[in-house]
Parts: sequence; structure tokens; C-alpha cells
Amino acid sequence: MSKLTLRAKSSEGEPYNVDFIVDNGRLSVYCNCKAGIFGQLCKHKTELIGGDESRLFDLSENDKMAQVTAMMAKVPEVQSLAARIAQSEKLIRREQAKIKTLKKQFGALLHEGIPIVENTQ
Ligand SMILES: [Zn+2]
Repeated sequence: MSKLTLRAKSSEGEPYNVDFIVDNGRLSVYCNCKAGIFGQLCKHKTELIGGDESRLFDLSENDKMAQVTAMMAKVPEVQSLAARIAQSEKLIRREQAKIKTLKKQFGALLHEGIPIVENTQ
């Protein structure tokens, strides 16, 4: 078994430990944040799996991060799931931008007044 631990930045100041464990040819990733201890996917895991060095608590761990990145190249399922999540998040951002524009138009219309169409019958 081999274990690599990276410390991820947290909003509370104290870092979270993200553990990358290889055992019997299988990779597992754990984080000790509130979501992570329940086995949920947290941003610390996704950011470090995605190779975002800016999320490291201590930049001197970037050599360990390179090892993690090299490990990720050997797990195609992780890469394909990460790509699908990124694609869906991109779609959501695009739809959110549409909603924002529509709400702006709608708000302006309600503020300026909407012409009433009289029933001619
Ligand atoms: Zn976490």
C-alpha cells in the first residue's frame, strides 16, 4: 500500500488532508473535511485531482502534487468522470447566464410597463 497526502486550502484556515491511497491496484481518495468524512465528493478532492496547484495549502507540496497528477494519468475512469462533470458544469454556467439575461429583460419590462393587448372580440 502507498499513501500520498496533500494539504488543501480551506475556507476556515486550517488545511484539510486529502489522502491518495493505492492498495491492491486500486486508487482511493479521502478528505477529512465535513463532506469528505461522509465519503462525499468535495471540492478539495476535485481541485487536487484536477491538478489545481493554487489550491495547495503549502506550495512546497507541488512535487507531491506532480506525483498525484502522474497517478491520475493511469486512471482513465477518473479522467472521464472529471471531464463529464466539467462539461455539465459548463452547461449549467451557460444556462445560468441565459437566466440572468432573461431576468434582466423581464425586470426591465415590468418596471417600464408592459403593453396590454385588448381583446378585440
Ligand atoms: Zn474535502
